[in-house]
Amino acid sequence: MQSFPLFLTLQDRHVLVVGGTEQAARKAELLLSAGAKVTLIAGAVVGEIAQMIADGFISWAGRCFDDGDLAGMSLVIVASDDEALQARVSHAAQQRGVPVNVVDRPKLSSFIMPAIVDRSPITIAISTGGAAPALARRLRAEIERALPAAIGRMARFAEIFREQVRRTLDQPRARRRFWDRVFAGRIGEMALAGDEIGARRELIRLLDSARHEAPTIGMVHLVGAGPGDPDLLTIKAHRLLQRADVVVYDRLVAPEVLAMARRDAERIHVGKQSGHHAMPQAEINQRLVSLARAGKSVVRLKGGDPFVFGRGGEEVEALMQAGIAVEVVPGVTAALGCAASAGIPLTHRDHAHACVFVAGHRKDGKVELDWPMLARPRQTVVIYMGAETLPLIASQLIAHGLPAATPVALVENGTTSRERRVVGTLATIERQATRAGLGGPTLCLVGEVVGIALTRDPEFRFVSGIGL
Ligand code: SAH
Repeated sequence: MQSFPLFLTLQDRHVLVVGGTEQAARKAELLLSAGAKVTLIAGAVVGEIAQMIADGFISWAGRCFDDGDLAGMSLVIVASDDEALQARVSHAAQQRGVPVNVVDRPKLSSFIMPAIVDRSPITIAISTGGAAPALARRLRAEIERALPAAIGRMARFAEIFREQVRRTLDQPRARRRFWDRVFAGRIGEMALAGDEIGARRELIRLLDSARHEAPTIGMVHLVGAGPGDPDLLTIKAHRLLQRADVVVYDRLVAPEVLAMARRDAERIHVGKQSGHHAMPQAEINQRLVSLARAGKSVVRLKGGDPFVFGRGGEEVEALMQAGIAVEVVPGVTAALGCAASAGIPLTHRDHAHACVFVAGHRKDGKVELDWPMLARPRQTVVIYMGAETLPLIASQLIAHGLPAATPVALVENGTTSRERRVVGTLATIERQATRAGLGGPTLCLVGEVVGIALTRDPEFRFVSGIGL
């Protein structure tokens, strides 16, 4: 985050606008709508701004800027084309600690003016940190379209009851659930439609029943976080993340996905960290049980899909044994995410009639896989957790009858901005993998279908990834 977003109260505060341009008129209008007392410094004024002065909305000092003009000011905006003046005001304001914005000159400004969606009292400010103001305007247009014009009415309606709800429901979680129900249901619709009397009646009824509700019993949602790209989360996963009290996650969950959780949800890391061991599964299960028993709404985020090599089954069992309600929300498993990202069809009428997912890691020092089955022709083999045992896997597949020239792809950090791909054959892939030094989660895909992607794009740069 380049700048810290906040909303400044300017009601009855003095602010200074320097310059008599059209831009100055726009800024003065905005400041007036926030209740500020605007003083304008400009040699001459014409057009709209002259009218605002004549109407008595802003006061005008018809002379040059003087450092003393900053006394008592909460904010300064410079909307003048005079570069020497811009620098002078900026310098003087920053020396006195008065926030200053020089229009279109971020380097001279101590704050930036966001693009604004005004649905008072709801205000949305958008900033691209100065990188692309045009993009901010586009985002604003999209938000304007998505937000009902009357959304402000809903906020004002909620405000009337804010105190009463706070007094009636003393648990923050109960309050949050109550307001969720208000906004997402009939009451919200009534308020939006302007039926305030009906909405009030319903709200009081709901508040009364919420007061008598038993304290919430916690629940655990085992949620598939997908392979990394947050756009690949399911809508349900996104909704649960927005409501969770606690998010329990591990190493495989991409930071971009974790960032989708409610800001003030507690985040608990239970995966491997460098130098430390992973938390044993039994301990994770115990943690989930005790969080739910404490009445929390827990999201257990698991990379990809919880039920594909994710030990989700064990967690469900432990929770059910402890009498905790549990729901499983599927996610896009790494095989599907990586295949899509690399442009490799997992099945194909001419090349692969089946697709097998296997785990390539060692159990008790051995890789126990059904090699004759994996070496069958006309199928795609996807190996999870196979980076370490790749040499053994490749040689066993050849030993059991797959041609040494069978194409193989490795996809590291699939679907994220860090995605890397290596492509070769059963005979060459080990050497290539060592050269590339893959260290992140890596998926291995074996079969003729990999060759299809290669014929289409010899550099294996399908869409945006980096081929090696
Ligand atoms: N439940 C997960 C798999 C967990 S096993 C799922 O459904 O995807 C961990 C293995 O998954 C890693 O060793 C790697 O082989 C694979 N994997 C997970 N995310 C990946 C990603 N973004 N890119 C490549 N491989 C990934």
